[in-house]
Amino acid sequence: MLELISHVVQISARRDRTEINSAMVDTLLDLFQPQNLTIYRCYTGNKKTVVFACAGYGQNGQFLRNAYLPDHHYCHPIERDPLLHRCRKELSAVIDFLEDGTHRIVFPVIRLNEPIYLIELTLTDEFSADQRVTLMGLVEYFGNHISLLDYGEADTLTGLASRKTFDKHLFELLGKAASDEMLSGPESRRRGTPDSNHWLAVCDIDHFKQVNDNFGHLIGDEVLIMMAQEMRHSFRFDDQLFRFGGEEFVALLQPTEEKHAFATLERFRTNVENQMFSRVGRITVSVGFSVLKPNDTPTDVIDRADEALYFAKRNGRNRVDCYETLVANGDVAAKEIAKGEVELF
Ligand code: GH3
Ligand code: MG
Ligand code: MG
Repeated sequence: MLELISHVVQISARRDRTEINSAMVDTLLDLFQPQNLTIYRCYTGNKKTVVFACAGYGQNGQFLRNAYLPDHHYCHPIERDPLLHRCRKELSAVIDFLEDGTHRIVFPVIRLNEPIYLIELTLTDEFSADQRVTLMGLVEYFGNHISLLDYGEADTLTGLASRKTFDKHLFELLGKAASDEMLSGPESRRRGTPDSNHWLAVCDIDHFKQVNDNFGHLIGDEVLIMMAQEMRHSFRFDDQLFRFGGEEFVALLQPTEEKHAFATLERFRTNVENQMFSRVGRITVSVGFSVLKPNDTPTDVIDRADEALYFAKRNGRNRVDCYETLVANGDVAAKEIAKGEVELF
């Protein structure tokens, strides 16, 4: 009992998904001694569901991965594991008895009728009913703690991540890219070709003030909610989406080539253009994007993407522009790098 409480205290003290997962793995290992244990994050898109094994214990001991940055090596479509798939369909704990006398049990953590986490344990048959009740309670507690965390981090209107979480995510991304590079050379952070990079895009609704003026703020808010939905549909599950404020949204794209980043953003732009926004009708969006560089601060990369966005606004709106291409073509002047010029006395 005391052990249980001390573990709950440990979990409740954490304010970061990765750290909460780590404390949860410690707890489950200590209290239940499973043979295997995996905490999956579960991403449900409009076409498929992907699971990411972000923490756990297996043949090679304990493992922990950044829960905010799904690592592709450890992601797979949920269908690949029939038990996880069943858990998602039934939205309740499922169990599979194995020939060696052990059993696999999977618990879902559910939000709005979709599992956001799946917790899988392989247990021996000596597992008692009391232990099972304790385990179920812990999983429920874990889900509640994650909900509270999400509530604090998400924008209340659209449910996207809010501006205040952006700097943390960006620094984690930059830190990860730098450490990958140190470990095994510049290619390791990149998937596919050497031209793959992270990209940051700023998306701003065109003439949104007119929407508010003509239809009122409430309808304006409805448009913002629909815009966030459109973003979720248009981007990949591992691209990170934020509402930055007002009618401005930011997307952090996973490593890809410029032409693919452009194609993704163009797809989003045309999806918005072709959608009927109830009552308001047609809406368009302008997008500016820029590559993420290893030494960037959040302000550096946002300023460059903003520059491309202003260009899009000045040149007809409803278009996507890349800062680096604009500079290469002489359409905008390259921004000065101010850091080296600052002198400290
Ligand atoms: P542009 O094409 O140049 O972007 O024109 P715009 O009218 O979209 O740009 P501007 O920045 O001048 O106006 C943004 C407007 O967004 C101002 C404000 O009325 C509205 N707005 C900001 N936050 C919210 C919000 O939370 N809800 C609603 N309904 N409107 C908002
Ligand atoms: Mg704006
Ligand atoms: Mg606008």
